Amino acid sequence: MLDIKITKTANPKAKPQDESKLGFGKVFTDHMFVMNYTEGQGWHDARIVPYENISLSPAAMVFHYGQEMFEGLKAYRGKDGEPRLFRPDMNGKRTNDTNKRLCIPELPVEDFVEAVKAVVKVDEDWIPTAEGTSLYIRPFIIATDEFLGVAPSKTYMFMIILSPSGAYYSSGLAPVGIWIEDDYVRAVRGGIGFAKTGGNYAASLAAQVKAHDGGYSQVLWLDGVERKYIEEVGAMNIFFKIDGKVVTPALSGSILPGITRNSVITLCKSWGLDVEERKISVDELLEAQKSGKLEEVFGTGTAAVISPVGTLRYKDDVMTIGDGSIGELSQKLYDAVTGIQNGTVADEFGWITQV
Ligand SMILES: *Cc1c(COP(=O)(O)O)cnc(C)c1O
Repeated sequence: MLDIKITKTANPKAKPQDESKLGFGKVFTDHMFVMNYTEGQGWHDARIVPYENISLSPAAMVFHYGQEMFEGLKAYRGKDGEPRLFRPDMNGKRTNDTNKRLCIPELPVEDFVEAVKAVVKVDEDWIPTAEGTSLYIRPFIIATDEFLGVAPSKTYMFMIILSPSGAYYSSGLAPVGIWIEDDYVRAVRGGIGFAKTGGNYAASLAAQVKAHDGGYSQVLWLDGVERKYIEEVGAMNIFFKIDGKVVTPALSGSILPGITRNSVITLCKSWGLDVEERKISVDELLEAQKSGKLEEVFGTGTAAVISPVGTLRYKDDVMTIGDGSIGELSQKLYDAVTGIQNGTVADEFGWITQV
């Protein structure tokens, strides 16, 4: 149990009036959660305070060697008006997997979930209500020692900020074009690909710019050793429906273990579908597409939930998936996951936590 001290703002901000213009990650709520870590003392001083700038030494370690981690989840305002969280314990567990890899002190999962719930509760009125909108929750930890040596920091800050977000799809599920990157790589086994940390994103920007310049919205990474096997998309895991089977890259250490990925696998299995977690080469995809067996391709992640892929580009090949529109399974998964999140579909797996 955390002892969270709450200081409410004396100057609440005006909430966004037009929820259709929220976009993503631009508006922040009135409060934030903060907790410090000091070697020898552990995590201490859990508090909710007015959202404001923070002051750090320019020598703070996070600025130099990137010792930091983050998470991402959402609070959904159900059709019944109740706020809900989707599997926040999974974000807490993943936090510790990331922390172990980056020499950041671990945090009890219960404390993580309690902190998320507490700050969302304080800013509950900021959860938007329009269809498809949500309150994006961004927990993160930064190394704060004033020291330029390369070593794990002895002090850290854990913070949670909140941002009301617009509907990812304003007019129904829209298929995207994906660029299979054949030069840059994102991660290798033994590296930090499975960790949710800024460094992976810094390493991804050059390829993202290249994909955008080529007219594609996202990058699909290949493995860092042979540049042959499919890994994942920018901030999403990737699934294929090939000849009736659902196939997704196995968690090999270089891809992020998505909570949406895990939920989609569970749902597909519960519907009696064959799900294979294994290596998939880009050649296998090209073959499957040529023989008409590549039925659907979709990404999974907290932001989009399910993102149907309409085209895949690899070198000189541009593959159209199915007829380029949304696949049946993609739509069914989207409806199931968002239904559970909004409380309109029964929560048979116990995925929902009340705030
Ligand atoms: C967060 C993230 C995902 C998706 O994970 P979810 O838990 O489903 O949101 C996938 N890939 C990367 C690189 C990520 O950072």
